[in-house]
Amino acid sequence: MAEKRDYYEVLGVSKTATDDELKRAYRQLAKKYHPDMNPGDKEAEAKFKEINEAYGVLSDPQKRSQYDQFGHDAFDPSKGGVGFNASDFDFSDILSSIFGGGFGGFGGFGGGGSSRRNGPRRGDDVMQSVLVSFEEAAFGCKREVNYPCIVKCDECGGTGAEKGTSAETCPTCHGTGQVTTTQRTPFGMMQSSHACDKCRGTGKVIKNPCKNCRGTGYIRITRKIEVTVPAGIDNGQRIALRGEGDAGRNGGPSGDLIITVGVRDHQTFERDGYDIYCEVPITFAEAALGANIKVPTLEGTVDYDIPEGTQTGTTFTLSRRGIQYVNNAGRKGDLHFTVVIEVPKNLTPQQKKLLADFADSCGENNYAKRKKFRRLFEKDK
Ligand SMILES: [Zn+2]
Ligand SMILES: [Zn+2]
Repeated sequence: MAEKRDYYEVLGVSKTATDDELKRAYRQLAKKYHPDMNPGDKEAEAKFKEINEAYGVLSDPQKRSQYDQFGHDAFDPSKGGVGFNASDFDFSDILSSIFGGGFGGFGGFGGGGSSRRNGPRRGDDVMQSVLVSFEEAAFGCKREVNYPCIVKCDECGGTGAEKGTSAETCPTCHGTGQVTTTQRTPFGMMQSSHACDKCRGTGKVIKNPCKNCRGTGYIRITRKIEVTVPAGIDNGQRIALRGEGDAGRNGGPSGDLIITVGVRDHQTFERDGYDIYCEVPITFAEAALGANIKVPTLEGTVDYDIPEGTQTGTTFTLSRRGIQYVNNAGRKGDLHFTVVIEVPKNLTPQQKKLLADFADSCGENNYAKRKKFRRLFEKDK
């Protein structure tokens, strides 16, 4: 097989080309090399295939970024790529915009996008959000969610036809949803097909439309569902409920209900991943003498012995007192608490005197840090 040309080179655009630039370049080339304009010209046909493939990749943001990273290997199954098939890509929409009418019936490029209106289509995803407390996120909870979604009309069972009647095959397009016309153009005779006007491409006409859904076969309802918010979930994470979104069309599967979870701040704790953090105020005496202090956790307070001479800002860790991992009840984060000395206020004259006496009694070896700092300070002078 001949060496593949760079897709950007094929379309004659720069690597930074915008979608519009890509589209413009593709249109010009597609017009020039289209087989209908070049009957029997094998070279033009090959060129046409090449530009279709290039545009198929570059017009899809995901495929484009894969191509930018890995080049042609991105789509080469023999090199671990995902494989790319021109028929994955629906060219007919853009071609119809190039040629100013419907366009179809040319070989090999997955043609006939409008005929796909007949085919199964997956329903749309429905996005919702719920707000839970810090504890609810930590321990999990249930939430009732009401959300709008599109379902099959129960009156007509999705056919769109009044009860007791049924949709009939469209007489104009004989159920294909497409009408083909032959046009004389400056480039010669051109066959083009477009969606049938009478049935709007569905291939069926409804004489007596269902009143409940006005003939569409689908209605919008508000659905109520109980959502289990798993323990350990974090702010901004999503829960997908498969198949709870909008109904699919023509036998296609339903979309999903996607719930984004918002977690409220906690008065005491902050969270980072599965670890939680808090500050615990202690007194000067507790810090100096060591003490048994109460530390808050998500499951009530626990006792903790801080050692004699604990400095303010020291952080201690209680392992496995953080948050449970999502879907792994056996694993938990840690709780880190930082002790902060609260300096006493509103001292009585007697307390002040006691403290002053205490301060007078202290010497350099009570304050190692201060001693070091002062020495540095004096050296700077
Ligand atoms: Zn109906
Ligand atoms: Zn029709």
